[in-house]
Amino acid sequence: MHTKTAQDIWSDFLAFMQERCSATEFQNWLAPIILIESADDTITLEVPNIFVQQYLLDNYKKDLREFIPRAPSGELLLTFVIAEQKKKPAAPHVATPPPASQDPSPGSFHEVKLNPQYVFEHFIEGPSNQFVKSAAQGVANTPGKSYNPLFIHGGVGLGKTHLLHAIGHFAKNHNKKLRVQCITTEGFINDLVDNLRNKTMDRMKRFYRSLDILLVDDIQFLQSRLNFEEELCNTFESLINNHKQIVITSDKPPGQLKLSERMIARMEWGLVAHVGIPDLETRVAILQHKAEGKGIRIPHKVAFFIAEHIFNNVRQLEGALNRLTAYSRLMGHEVTEEIAQKSLGEMMGPSSHKKISVDNVMKSVATLYEVKVSDLCGNARSKDVAFPRQVAMYLAKELINDSLMKLASAFGGKTHSTLLHAWKKIGTQVETDERLRKQIQMARRNLEA
Ligand code: ADP
Ligand code: MG
Repeated sequence: MHTKTAQDIWSDFLAFMQERCSATEFQNWLAPIILIESADDTITLEVPNIFVQQYLLDNYKKDLREFIPRAPSGELLLTFVIAEQKKKPAAPHVATPPPASQDPSPGSFHEVKLNPQYVFEHFIEGPSNQFVKSAAQGVANTPGKSYNPLFIHGGVGLGKTHLLHAIGHFAKNHNKKLRVQCITTEGFINDLVDNLRNKTMDRMKRFYRSLDILLVDDIQFLQSRLNFEEELCNTFESLINNHKQIVITSDKPPGQLKLSERMIARMEWGLVAHVGIPDLETRVAILQHKAEGKGIRIPHKVAFFIAEHIFNNVRQLEGALNRLTAYSRLMGHEVTEEIAQKSLGEMMGPSSHKKISVDNVMKSVATLYEVKVSDLCGNARSKDVAFPRQVAMYLAKELINDSLMKLASAFGGKTHSTLLHAWKKIGTQVETDERLRKQIQMARRNLEA
């Protein structure tokens, strides 16, 4: 019987992974790993640093299990050697670091170009975002002197990135000398990996620590990349100690992020501000402002109609507007309420959310969890009915455009706060619970089919 050599196993694994991950991912994480000869069945890998090892284990463990042999105990026969620890003469694969004398220039690090549309003038304020907007303006006016860091959190499409870029624009316009860098969390991690690999960490540290304003978008992505937390935290501390401004955005408040206590404390140090869902009037104002920007006029009635139907995400509101204008141009019609109705109806698709009823949701969830519909409307608190009930409430809120009160009362007369609580709870759980996510997906597909 032919037994595979370590080389075969590793080659198979690489070939398999090459099909599955992006070229950049492969290049960054897998290509630098070197298989080392070992005396027994163990697969020994040389990694450039601990991050690569951890990344491999965090992200590809399942795939590794398919390939790497196991000990009778079930443990993977896999060990790592960190390249720096090997005191061998430099192998030919070692990259030559760029000349250290070069001053780090912004161009050589990941950076997000500020979106020219994302300025304060185009950010419409209302009760849900007044506070965060004025905090952002404060920070842009006197970077490093008011709140540090400024932490902006809120749901998807509510203007976090817009505000982040607005701070960058404003600060730059008022002081051309300021060094402003806007990054995504992903970009920072990639910088870290590149510089670790090229042994140019000093250069990276010097660069990041030379900034006047660091804008970090979507810090929640650090949660799945915990190995990089410390370096980012060090960067934050060093900037804050030097009175340099940091602004962070996130989909959750600091305390709800799965990050170290040190990092959370750091982020809570300054000001934590929430961007909420804009109320109807603000949504109408946003729509009209956006339409004006495109040189289109939409009657107030139409703006109102759209804003009434799309309520929890400004990006969707813009999408509806784009669609509406395209539609009316194509048809050569003025934008009327009727056209809005038609084009919006299409946008929501044949599986229009309006068609799904609470009844349908309950039936579908009842089947999924093998409980009775009457249990979902009832008050029994035992876990085997209470949990499905919360799932049904979650789905109802996700899929049906109706007031919370109406939805809640359809569950045997519950209050809107009960429904909201269920929605939040399940919404949080879905993020970490693979099984639940699948169940919910299944129910959703059934309902939308
Ligand atoms: P987030 O980063 O919170 O997901 P974005 O900042 O990308 O959201 O915003 C999504 C879209 O909605 C952008 O085009 C942005 O300009 C727009 N937007 C969000 N809030 C407002 C607002 N208050 N006024 C004007 N436009 C807004
Ligand atoms: Mg964003």
